[in-house]
Amino acid sequence: MGLKRYSVFAIVREAMSYHQGWERAWPWPKPKRKYDVVIVGAGGHGLATAYYLGKNFGITNVAIIEKGWLGGGNTGRNTTIIRSNYLQDPSAAIYEKARSLYETMSQDLNYNVMFSPRGLLMLGQTEHEVRGYKRTVYANNLQGVETRWIEPDEVKKLVPIINIAGPRYPVLGALYQARGGTARHDAVAWGYARACSAMGMDVIQQCEVTGVRSEGGRVKGIDTTKGAIDCDKLGLVVAGNSSVLAEMAGFRLPIESLALQALVSEPIKPCMDVVVMANTVHGYMSQSDKGEMVIGGGTDGFNNYTQRGSFHHIEETVRSLIETFPMLSRLKMLRQWGGIVDMTGDRSPILSKTPVEGVFVNCGWGTGGFKAIPGSGWAMAELMARGHSPLTEEFSMYRFREGKFIDESVAAGVAH
Ligand SMILES: Cc1cc2nc3c(=O)[nH]c(=O)nc-3n(C[C@H](O)[C@H](O)[C@H](O)COP(=O)(O)OP(=O)(O)OC[C@H]3O[C@@H](n4cnc5c(N)ncnc54)[C@H](O)[C@@H]3O)c2cc1C
Repeated sequence: MGLKRYSVFAIVREAMSYHQGWERAWPWPKPKRKYDVVIVGAGGHGLATAYYLGKNFGITNVAIIEKGWLGGGNTGRNTTIIRSNYLQDPSAAIYEKARSLYETMSQDLNYNVMFSPRGLLMLGQTEHEVRGYKRTVYANNLQGVETRWIEPDEVKKLVPIINIAGPRYPVLGALYQARGGTARHDAVAWGYARACSAMGMDVIQQCEVTGVRSEGGRVKGIDTTKGAIDCDKLGLVVAGNSSVLAEMAGFRLPIESLALQALVSEPIKPCMDVVVMANTVHGYMSQSDKGEMVIGGGTDGFNNYTQRGSFHHIEETVRSLIETFPMLSRLKMLRQWGGIVDMTGDRSPILSKTPVEGVFVNCGWGTGGFKAIPGSGWAMAELMARGHSPLTEEFSMYRFREGKFIDESVAAGVAH
């Protein structure tokens, strides 16, 4: 379907007619009876999967089914950190693929996702952490991921508001990725949704999947609150709801669902133009374009589907960050929220075929999947179209049965 391109000429043209001629950013279609591919979940990963199915494989008879609104899950609730400084080779490959796709995403989607590679620091605040991050730098250099170890004086230069000699944990240096940064999370979902719609795909919102139908071990379709839909292939990309959907399809996933929280301060003048993660004290922070300090905390200590914040988490997170950034003590906190994250035991994702033929699953991104959206969509599309992808081979759900873990517990030490 021909959606008009956004450009400077479009702004001039619409200015002539008092901006009355803008069309809806994407249509609001009714579901068809059958699609070649159905993706459940219109978060970043589901939408990116659909996008690359169309762009890389010409598969466009696709529906993306969303129970709420576009990007209303974790994609619209995260703190938008983008980086690829993971330890293990399979992780570095998929996260670096994603980071590199972010570099050109705005042009690619014809939608400004405000990618800002402002630089990212993971502070080393104990000897153990320093050793771990130096090891990651060596691994990254071998993997072709550009990171380096920086000493405290360079940290202070990059982050003047930091307290290098913290009361409990001094800053001993940092793992630095100069092309890490942030992007506008909603825009990532909106940009993909618009690009999918432009290829003729149906993005169907406010439509909950209530059942998965299969026959003889092969998928037939889904039941939804807007009726039954048949499909040849089905992608389950529902983050914290993955176990629920897997149960509908008749198998179990090694996923635990937990609420993860974040908060923002009142807006202030620019004071920090990098992203800082302080994993030992457990908090991380960046400054949004509006001037708010965007602060990430931890997960709840028990499994739940609550999708909301709680007061003790604000206290815990802010208290730990004040050690590192004393000026925070004078700021008011404005909002807090939560999302339901999907955690695996080895803190690595699952992109996999399943026991039901034609059903594929993409989940387990846990506290850190925003950064992976384009790489994950790229790889998942290849897996669904061809039956295999070099980027997903190691991320099969069966690795837990075989003990072939991809341990990223250090890289994912703090929620991000
Ligand atoms: C507070 C917080 C901070 C975070 N910070 C970062 C960060 O800084 N950097 C980073 O890389 N990652 C971060 N993350 C993690 C990141 O947000 C997620 O890994 C990522 O957004 C997951 O995207 P998704 O598309 O898989 O899931 P989601 O965006 O959650 O999308 C899944 C969708 O499936 C839909 N759905 C569920 N069940 C059904 C059903 N039955 N029928 C139809 N639709 C259904 C949901 O409504 C939802 O919209 C953070 C997460 C949180 C919560």
